[in-house]
Amino acid sequence: MSDELEVVRLALIRQAAWRAPAALALTPVLAEVRADPNNPREPPTLAVDAYWRLYWCPQALARWSTQEAAAVLWHECEHLLRRHHARAEALDAYPELWNLAVDAEINDDLPGLPADGVTPKKLRLPEGLLAEEYYKLLLANKSPRVKVIHGSGAGLEAGPWELGAPSVQAPGLSEAAGRLVEARVARAIQGHPATGRGEVPGFWKQWAQAVVTPEPPERWDRLLRSFVAGTFAAGREDYTYARPRKRGLTHGLILPGLVRHQPRIALCVDTSGSMSGEGSAVLSTAEAICRVLGAVTLVAGDAAVAAVGQVRGAADVRAKALGGGGTDMRVLLAQALRLRPDVVVVITDGDTPWPEVRPRVPVVVVLTTQPLSPPPSWARVVTI
Ligand SMILES: [Zn+2]
Repeated sequence: MSDELEVVRLALIRQAAWRAPAALALTPVLAEVRADPNNPREPPTLAVDAYWRLYWCPQALARWSTQEAAAVLWHECEHLLRRHHARAEALDAYPELWNLAVDAEINDDLPGLPADGVTPKKLRLPEGLLAEEYYKLLLANKSPRVKVIHGSGAGLEAGPWELGAPSVQAPGLSEAAGRLVEARVARAIQGHPATGRGEVPGFWKQWAQAVVTPEPPERWDRLLRSFVAGTFAAGREDYTYARPRKRGLTHGLILPGLVRHQPRIALCVDTSGSMSGEGSAVLSTAEAICRVLGAVTLVAGDAAVAAVGQVRGAADVRAKALGGGGTDMRVLLAQALRLRPDVVVVITDGDTPWPEVRPRVPVVVVLTTQPLSPPPSWARVVTI
């Protein structure tokens, strides 16, 4: 029944064996998916749902060469590996624009696709961005020029052909089973020979590293990722396509490996005399933040800036966090803002004057103790 599909699946695995765990995890479902469900003259296409089901029909595959069809099949796998479904929910994205955004995220570095695929170039947008960034730019343009339907697995509302949650009659993968597929692909990538057929692109190596790396401390992970997502999604409400936001955060959905443009974090560390007993709290917080983001820019000091520089973990912070005098975080914040960061994190005991005006980027204040007077209302406060 599904020989045509198996030929394509085999071609995909032959190209790059590390893609096999994803390609084999797809449950094929015969269905005719039209780019426009109301228009029977639209050519059929492929679609996935959030349960790793692939909706396909022989006419859809017949449109393409085997190599093109293999690229489209991998494109569908990428929707699932990149968690486009959950990311759309978190953003409460307008479906048609979101589908363009996710296709642009996938297709900018996927060779072998048929000529009618969505690319950043066709949307007149830069390459190498996250779907959230493309979405924001598309909102600003307000003019989707290409229509694509790739099912709820890409983050669209479920198509009429979809089977819903998995059951005995309609098997599919649960969210947990989907995570296991991700882990299998990541292990296949890490075990793949460095040279030869099906060389793993740099992006997927980073992705695999992020999948197999144990989660950093939950609180920092969640908090910083929410700022990462917030940075990219900011301003959505300003446009006519915007709908009311259901959830505020996309925490846990954007793996660090997916973020090709890491947000710039400035980490201000209060090294005043009153912080002398807080060394371990400061270092463990700095370590947790670096584990989420790789590297941050440290601004250390007391009432004056003592050190500025890139740090990759607690050891670097320990070497640079010099001070011991009075406290004025206004000085450190001013220095941090000159670095044009996306987010500023300040670790302090809180006994400091603060700027009277809200800084132009989000500020997270990490308090090592309960201060006499709380930080200003524009700061997001975390007590450790
Ligand atoms: Zn797609």
